[in-house]
Amino acid sequence: MSGDRLCGSKRPDHRCTDGGHIPCVLRAGHDGLHQDTLGLRWIDRDSALVEALAITFAGEQLRQLLDGGEQQP
Ligand SMILES: [Zn+2]
Repeated sequence: MSGDRLCGSKRPDHRCTDGGHIPCVLRAGHDGLHQDTLGLRWIDRDSALVEALAITFAGEQLRQLLDGGEQQP
């Protein structure tokens, strides 16, 4: 297995948990969420996925504004 490198990204929200800083164990350059050995997943703030979600949410808010901000049943 050559070039088998891990992502190694660490969760940004490292509060005072005793779990320490467990890096992502997925392959380097993987898509989607990171995942550590405990199965915990997190998202990279500057990943393309976050950008896409931000655009989606912004679009949703924009639509509400254009609709007058009122939600009708
Ligand atoms: Zn990762």
